Amino acid sequence: MSNDIKIKKRKNCPLCNAENSEISILMHDNWELVECSECSFVYMPEVPVYEMMKEEFAWEKNFSPSKDIKLSKKIRRSIKGLIKRNKLLFLLDKYIKEGQVLDIGCGSGVKFDDIPQKFIPFGIDISEKSAFEAKTNFEKRGGTAICAPATDVLKEYGKNKFKGAILRSYLEHEHHPFEVLDELKETLTSDGSIIIKVPNYASVNRSVRGKNWCGYRFPDHVNQFTPFTLTKMVKKAGYKIIKFNYLDKQITSDNMWMVAQPI
Ligand SMILES: [Zn+2]
Repeated sequence: MSNDIKIKKRKNCPLCNAENSEISILMHDNWELVECSECSFVYMPEVPVYEMMKEEFAWEKNFSPSKDIKLSKKIRRSIKGLIKRNKLLFLLDKYIKEGQVLDIGCGSGVKFDDIPQKFIPFGIDISEKSAFEAKTNFEKRGGTAICAPATDVLKEYGKNKFKGAILRSYLEHEHHPFEVLDELKETLTSDGSIIIKVPNYASVNRSVRGKNWCGYRFPDHVNQFTPFTLTKMVKKAGYKIIKFNYLDKQITSDNMWMVAQPI
């Protein structure tokens, strides 16, 4: 961690709000990962401030695999990307009705290229570059995107606006995951659903790969969910769980997919 990085301290556990309950479990380049002794939630108590996430720590900038593994990774990622898009497409089609959909952590918005036109995309992203690209992509379909922390803008959408929300590879980055889920609920229609995908901290892969597990990304992944803590947070925020796949049909899967609806 260099000295010019601006840090914000999360004093309370993001899930149960307990104070001084953290037990240190891992250090990486001076970034600490802790586990809450009250609820077992795993998180980084010190995170880069949002302003730094806009550029310095933007995911697309930080993630630069070395040249020798680039090609094989590229192929692997395109295959993986196809599977993930299909999974998202399947869940959208099954659980979300035609209309406006909010994609939090939307990236450049390209994932909507394969998604039927009946879904009108709105997006939020903390990276300026990604949000700008998403705005261009989404405006072609009648939606738009903005660059902001989700907690700053969710209330501005008003009530009953979205038929659904996508939180794919997003909650692990969010400084206030519970608050986002809580505020998001208000923007959804009564029959709205949310689709969540996060890395599974309790996955077999993490046990096997240890510190080299792909779900560790410092300082981007500020929260680490297990099936237990994800369920607990989603329920605490006022949702019922409609579908939850945490093995994703493969014992080696690193990810969890969940569909939930406001109660
Ligand atoms: Zn806790």
